Amino acid sequence: MKRKAHLSSAAKAHWEQLLAEFCSISSPSGDLAGLHIMAKRCTQELEGFGFLVRLQDTGTGPVLVALSPHARPPFTLVVGHLDTVLPAGPVRRKGRKLYASGAVDMKGGIVTFLAALELLKEQQAPLPPNLAVVLVPDEESSGSATRQAMAEWGAHATLVLVVEPGEIVKGQETVVCGRKGMAEFMLRVHGQAAHSGLAFHQGRSALAAACHFVHRAESLTQGDLTLNVSRLVAGDGAFLDNLSKQADLLGTSARLNVVPDAAVCQGEFRFSEGKQGEEAKKALQALAQEVARQRHVRVEFAITHWVPPVDSRAGAWLAERAQRLAREVGLELAIEHNRGGVSLANFLERPDLPVLDGLGPVGGGMHTDEEFVSLDSLARRVRLLARLLQELAQVPPP
Ligand SMILES: [Zn+2]
Repeated sequence: MKRKAHLSSAAKAHWEQLLAEFCSISSPSGDLAGLHIMAKRCTQELEGFGFLVRLQDTGTGPVLVALSPHARPPFTLVVGHLDTVLPAGPVRRKGRKLYASGAVDMKGGIVTFLAALELLKEQQAPLPPNLAVVLVPDEESSGSATRQAMAEWGAHATLVLVVEPGEIVKGQETVVCGRKGMAEFMLRVHGQAAHSGLAFHQGRSALAAACHFVHRAESLTQGDLTLNVSRLVAGDGAFLDNLSKQADLLGTSARLNVVPDAAVCQGEFRFSEGKQGEEAKKALQALAQEVARQRHVRVEFAITHWVPPVDSRAGAWLAERAQRLAREVGLELAIEHNRGGVSLANFLERPDLPVLDGLGPVGGGMHTDEEFVSLDSLARRVRLLARLLQELAQVPPP
């Protein structure tokens, strides 16, 4: 088998051009028309490699599912998302960086995969058998289609590759084999309103109780566990119940003479293992009850959203394989075992499943007007992913 070690300059130019074209398609979350155009373009490209592609419509846009010829479950699954946070703006090129919405997150990752397929085709190298590609439309927003597609396809996978962006940590490009879980919480405090001049001691401040909770909750942050209180709104009940119409009270003297009887506090915490998350949840519940007793207020505490972590143990061998193959293409890769951001992989709901994430190129300015991708990293990642797919085709998992 002839093996070309490098992408030719014509091939590089071709893929950079395709990435610029993908980035000029505006496909922010919720833009159903834009997401359809993006899905159609990916369909054309994948059909060119012989994949059987179908688009499943959902309320948040199309889910693209592509199967390699004769693919049957269980699948080697490649996952990504079609949506971006910001709509497309001008696509600019400065040296070896391409600036555009979605350049790194993650149209760059999709192009990496397509270019890796092309490289394997040129080398007449086999693809892993039973390859399935799933691209979702709403990873950056509601995630309702993402959750469903990941759980559905995760159930029929033996291994998952995620083309989310890599990072640079201490000067080294990374891949990701584990991600933290995340939970969102909400605390409501019901106190007792009273005139602060005439009947101060009859009042029970929901605001003071909520602050007490916040102060204590933040001290749960330790090691891998981080807790962020994101929002605290308090005041008299009429203010809180009618916030959108009463916001003009802020900055005035109106009703400052009322002991505030209502507070809502929201936040999130991140954890590296399910057990650690459960313990944090119990600690917050106990803390809410303790504050209620000490402050003579009533509290309601709820976990409003729960995303499980990606266990790095299942995919460790895969990450080590990628690290070894990366050296062949001149890339010293570091492995992230515990990345803080949630990705598609968090919704697979299969702690036993080997996952290798962060296979896309590195860049910066994600979700801003200054988002860019490194085109040199793109070329390296194409070669790495091609080598990885080739080896997965030839050497079975341990
Ligand atoms: Zn992303």
